[in-house]
Amino acid sequence: MKYIFVTGGVISSLGKGLTAAALGTLLENRGLTVTLQKFDPYLNVDPGTMSPYQHGEVYVLDDGAETDLDLGHYERFTNTSLSRANATTSGQVYKQVLENEREGVYLGKTVQVIPHVTDEIQRRIHALAESTKTDVMITEIGGTVGDIEGLPFLEAIREFAQEVGPGNVCFIHVTYVPFIKAAGELKTKPTQQSVAKLREIGLAPHVLVCRCEYPLGKELRSKLSMFCNVPYEAVIEEKDVEHTIYEVPLMLQRERMDDLVCQTLRLDCPPAQMGPWQDILRRMIAPQHRVRIGVVGKYIELQDAYKSVYEALKHAGVATDCGVQIDQIEAEEVEKPGGELLLKDLGGILVPGGFGDRGTEGKIKAAQYAREKGIPYLGLCLGLQIATIEFARNVLGLKLANSTEFDTEGRKTPDPVIHLQETQRHVKRKGGSMRLGAQECVLKPGSLAAKLYGKSSVMERHRHRYEFNQDYRARFEAAGLSISGTTLNDQLVEMVEIPTHPFFISTQAHPEFLSKPTRPHPLFVGFIAAAHQRLHKKAI
Ligand code: GLN
Repeated sequence: MKYIFVTGGVISSLGKGLTAAALGTLLENRGLTVTLQKFDPYLNVDPGTMSPYQHGEVYVLDDGAETDLDLGHYERFTNTSLSRANATTSGQVYKQVLENEREGVYLGKTVQVIPHVTDEIQRRIHALAESTKTDVMITEIGGTVGDIEGLPFLEAIREFAQEVGPGNVCFIHVTYVPFIKAAGELKTKPTQQSVAKLREIGLAPHVLVCRCEYPLGKELRSKLSMFCNVPYEAVIEEKDVEHTIYEVPLMLQRERMDDLVCQTLRLDCPPAQMGPWQDILRRMIAPQHRVRIGVVGKYIELQDAYKSVYEALKHAGVATDCGVQIDQIEAEEVEKPGGELLLKDLGGILVPGGFGDRGTEGKIKAAQYAREKGIPYLGLCLGLQIATIEFARNVLGLKLANSTEFDTEGRKTPDPVIHLQETQRHVKRKGGSMRLGAQECVLKPGSLAAKLYGKSSVMERHRHRYEFNQDYRARFEAAGLSISGTTLNDQLVEMVEIPTHPFFISTQAHPEFLSKPTRPHPLFVGFIAAAHQRLHKKAI
């Protein structure tokens, strides 16, 4: 096994995860098997309890792990399938060390950051290597070099590199080279200082990936090479992409980053075959058709809150040769009088997942608009619950229908068409306690769901506490809301649709987590095709 460690310098949000994932794409296309893991220095056990304002999207894996959105990049850019073992936080490390201490594992010793915390970090690297047995493991260290909380991770990878020896480890430092407008120049000093900080800890990067808005040029590359102590050709320019993040692997390939990594790791493998990836990119950049999709959510101003949803829409665009323009619509704005104007001229309306009642009335209004006007609608998780509430209110005439999630003291809905799952009623602790991960859903023969998936049963990832209330099922079905997917034992409703509508479908799952550019998700593909048909009055 060969090990690549990716650290970040100067500022956060540089796209370290994307760089790691794009390197993964290149290595896989050179015939290597790859796994990727993320180390996050915060003390939460996982990001599941954090607000999207703190953390962006929580990305869910098959095994139910709630993880950082970078794992989404890893899965979208490579063929690797990830598990709980691929996401470690300081919280998990300390929890384990403290449990060990109570068990008596360190009997007689003083428990310390070095060696106990750093050993536990290294144990996790070894454990993942052992369980995946891939050729290469890429480990991304979250945060920025210089952060106090990141230190144990940096010390751990230094010790680890010492143990596995040269030729088996490659350190990549992703850094920022800012352009100072007043001086009209790119500046290397922050990078020099960040590398100095790394060297203080005993880490010397083999590769320097420079995020920048303008080309570095020969002079700056030489300067960075000299002062950061890396060979000239190991200074990699990673400019902001022009069109899409899926350009990054090709950009890094042009800079010969994968050659460099393979040399450092003494891996002898052919150049990356990027033909199919280039085809995908061509379709993304110059599509034949165009559609406009409205995503009605409550964290719209955050770029990262619905990351996987936005990506899945773009992947579906590749499959249908459609450029997808995404209108990010704030649900609370839709609630206001005249708010439906925001929904005008859309090819399709998507309501993504969410928690809490802020903005729900706007989402309900959007679902009603889609249903009544024959606009394609795709509901994801909360989006299914919203579609159900809307149907109950406006078709079944249950004017006060709602989800018990939105009940407040003194205001309880008389018609809880969405309610807490039976298995959730005793749950007190918030962390990791939702219905999580891959669950089987059986599809109704002849339904739109069965047609789109082309299967009779599917596995999709979940993250929810509430469900469709089966007491109302007969009434819904009689009025034209078809239950097109359920769990095996028919206990939970997984999918609903309106067969008389051109395209109205919702799922309790999060299909966005299974979409890749190389494998667009059938629900999203169907949605984009339907949106195209609505806008252009012809099928693709
Ligand atoms: N808040 C809803 C529930 O817990 C929906 C969750 C979601 O959209 N992920 O069931």
